[in-house]
Amino acid sequence: MCKQDEFNSERDFFKKYPSRFYICSNCGYMNPSKYTCQKCGWRADGLFKTMDRGYRYKILTTGKEYEIFKPIELEKGENNGIK
Ligand SMILES: [Zn+2]
Repeated sequence: MCKQDEFNSERDFFKKYPSRFYICSNCGYMNPSKYTCQKCGWRADGLFKTMDRGYRYKILTTGKEYEIFKPIELEKGENNGIK
């Protein structure tokens, strides 16, 4: 289960995850879209969401919550064993 991060704005989100590439929860393909996999067609905003393998965050200024594919920055961190 991934924890939910909070950002003041969408801009702060991109400051933390500047690559703008996201790992598909279903097949692991690297996508330029947060929500739709170009390879297998999986949707992070679909019926099964990201199956707890994605990334959740909240924008504080709007109070909106999002569930998206995991940014590649996080994937690298896990491979290095950094917590
Ligand atoms: Zn996929």
